[in-house]
Amino acid sequence: MRKRILYLFLVFGLLLPAASDVQGRVVAYTTAEQKDATVYITKTGEKYHKTGCRYLSKSQIKTTKKEAVKNGYGACKVCKP
Ligand SMILES: [Zn+2]
Repeated sequence: MRKRILYLFLVFGLLLPAASDVQGRVVAYTTAEQKDATVYITKTGEKYHKTGCRYLSKSQIKTTKKEAVKNGYGACKVCKP
């Protein structure tokens, strides 16, 4: 048991700095590139979508990704806006 915990510490110690570095770069990239990307929300949904997504109903409302996030909408897992 103790050995396993030590092993986990070792693994996290090696992987975490690298993982957070990559994540930081991805976040920087996406915020710089898609800050004002056009996305669509619906009257009833809680997600924002790219145009043409099959989960986007007829009540699509044009907005920006920034606004959608600010208003509590999450990214659709299907169209990945
Ligand atoms: Zn979608």
